[in-house]
Amino acid sequence: MAEDTIFSKVVRGEIPADVVHQDDLVTAFRDIQPLAPTHILIVPNRAIPTLADVSEDDEAVLGRMLRVAADLAADEGVAGNGYRVMINCRNHGGQEVYHLHLHLLGGRPLGPMLMR
Ligand code: AMP
Repeated sequence: MAEDTIFSKVVRGEIPADVVHQDDLVTAFRDIQPLAPTHILIVPNRAIPTLADVSEDDEAVLGRMLRVAADLAADEGVAGNGYRVMINCRNHGGQEVYHLHLHLLGGRPLGPMLMR
């Protein structure tokens, strides 16, 4: 059931999370296993399984996810030095939770984009 991911439970406030932003389209909360001093996940409130599943109807929510990422990076004080946003898609992309999410990572040099 697309609406019943672990992130849907976070969106609905049914499981605890460190929520840093919520609006009509997206929710942002700190990753439970942070890989950088700032590691925030930004998810659509309405579950979309993967980036490969988006349609034209999702353009507003996709735009909101990016804008919220930029705003939160500024709030976190990482915008000046820079940061990374990442979306893992399906198996080869290393996606673990099948509720579309954008990772906002920053607060230290993040190294090369991929391990060789
Ligand atoms: P991905 O590999 O892109 O699917 O990333 C999933 C991310 O979700 C991982 O970085 C996990 O640490 C994170 N995660 C899983 N469950 C939770 C949760 N309940 N609250 C916050 N982050 C979570």
